Amino acid sequence: MKSLDNCLIVGAGMAGLMAAHRLQAEGVKVTLLDKGRGVGGRLATRWADSETGAKAYFDHGAQFFTVRDARFQRFVNEWRNGGLVREWSRGFPAALHSANDDGHPRYCGVAGMNAIARHLAQGLDVRLSAQVKRLSHDDALWQAELTTGEKVAANALILTPPVPQSLTLLDDVLAQWPAATREALAEIAYDPCFAVLATLAGPSGLPAPGALQLQREPIAWIADNHRKGISPDVHTLTIHAGPEFTRTHWETPYDEVAQLLLDAAREWTPAPVQSWQVHRWRYSQPQRLYPEPCLLMTAPLPVALAGDGFGAARVEGAALSGLAAAEALLAYANI
Ligand SMILES: Cc1cc2nc3c(=O)[nH]c(=O)nc-3n(C[C@H](O)[C@H](O)[C@H](O)COP(=O)(O)OP(=O)(O)OC[C@H]3O[C@@H](n4cnc5c(N)ncnc54)[C@H](O)[C@@H]3O)c2cc1C
Repeated sequence: MKSLDNCLIVGAGMAGLMAAHRLQAEGVKVTLLDKGRGVGGRLATRWADSETGAKAYFDHGAQFFTVRDARFQRFVNEWRNGGLVREWSRGFPAALHSANDDGHPRYCGVAGMNAIARHLAQGLDVRLSAQVKRLSHDDALWQAELTTGEKVAANALILTPPVPQSLTLLDDVLAQWPAATREALAEIAYDPCFAVLATLAGPSGLPAPGALQLQREPIAWIADNHRKGISPDVHTLTIHAGPEFTRTHWETPYDEVAQLLLDAAREWTPAPVQSWQVHRWRYSQPQRLYPEPCLLMTAPLPVALAGDGFGAARVEGAALSGLAAAEALLAYANI
């Protein structure tokens, strides 16, 4: 019987949080390390003070999620019954005055997408502002060295950052893995995405349900967070740029990026823009995935790689990947 007394999970996004719950339920001691100031990773909600002093809220990463898997549906049903999530729509149009109802529910967090992560983090040992700089090991233990110099050890590891970031941490270990595995991991690639978060002086021109899934350049997505219900007191917009625009303007100053995207959004912003912020997602959504829901390597010590780069993309893919990583470790340890 192999030892799985404790497990370190790097990343407290959807994948890491789901993995932690699954392991903790089997009596494994779990510690999550996240470099962010809060949990959730790309399940991100931001707030700002508006000109009136009221708080303006924005979902600036994942906007909604869908459910295909019966197992994930059970979690979502529970969240829905508890008032954490709600159905937002059954599709988003690609243009004004058109409809796109495919009958498939799109869910969102009632108080923003990040609230789902904060709910999942309850009862877990999560260390925030804890950026792992390096991973090393001896015969029995992994050791994570944080940028603060602190070291944390455990006998198993789950890595959930976007894969290029996980590979950087594994640098010292990768050479011991088969070349085909390294190549498959190196192929996982993500699109970058600029998010512009704008506060408006009045309502946007976006009709119900409050978002357009344009899937084009320069704007791929635009959502009204007030209509969505997460910014009750202030009209706010989330604009996501397409991957081509984002790549082209990656080094462009933020005020120029904001201007270009707000100009492109003018037909949906009849009210003046009062303020804006720009967020740059280097890894937004994977375009090339690892074919399995996780990758478990057992030499030199057990480590599972997980996240939305494995199996299926998006929020649901990340959740199922986290569960798969936990279960792969439990099976390895015969638990
Ligand atoms: C702009 C945008 C729009 C999106 N829209 C949708 C959508 O509408 N629907 C949908 O289903 N999905 C959407 N997604 C994708 C969805 O957000 C992700 O698939 C999902 O949240 C990924 O979860 P994860 O746990 O795999 O990764 P993450 O959420 O990225 O979690 C990884 C965590 O690892 C942490 N981390 C990284 N490196 C380190 C380190 N060295 N030390 C410590 N911690 C570290 C990070 O801080 C992060 O919290 C969108 C994403 C973006 C960015």
